[in-house]
Amino acid sequence: AEITTLLLSRIRDVPDYPEQGVMFKDITPLLADPAAFTALTDALAEIATNTGATKVVGLEARGFILGAPVAVRAGLGFIPVRKAGKLPGATLRQAYDLEYGSAEIEVHAEDLSSGDRVLIVDDVLATGGTAEAAIQLIHRAGAEVSGLAVLMELGFLDGRARLEPALNGAPLEALLQI
Ligand code: 5GP
Repeated sequence: AEITTLLLSRIRDVPDYPEQGVMFKDITPLLADPAAFTALTDALAEIATNTGATKVVGLEARGFILGAPVAVRAGLGFIPVRKAGKLPGATLRQAYDLEYGSAEIEVHAEDLSSGDRVLIVDDVLATGGTAEAAIQLIHRAGAEVSGLAVLMELGFLDGRARLEPALNGAPLEALLQI
């Protein structure tokens, strides 16, 4: 539809970033366009409402930029999931595999509780490794996942198939399919 065309027109393809052979999808032109950023925020906030979310989790770093206005628009609290070592309080930590090596993400344990239904927001779903670790963190905190909402799904990397078991029926909503 119209919004798809608008969003797609504001994403810049950057070849060979961050390494040779990768076509990086740069969302900064979209963020700089108030009409596009507002349309994106509204679309993601509608997913938060429709899935019955009680909290929005954003994944560092671009998930913070998108998730925070979504939380405000939907009238929900925002919770950052950060790379390990950045949060000052008591955290839950989850490791996950990267193409080379591994990484860890954390959340403040006290920010999530057992009654919560969490919408996870990020810009791009690639292999699904980051989102899978975030889902595990949310479950370990005793909360439920209402859904995963991303601006863009890189379909050729099969993140959706990888996430199916962890999502356990919760929707994966991507505004754009690449
Ligand atoms: P995954 O864990 O799904 O492989 O990678 C997803 C994470 O990497 C997301 O947090 C996303 O921000 C980042 N990412 C991977 N590829 C791209 C890309 O082409 N463009 C942008 N903006 N982020 C990407």
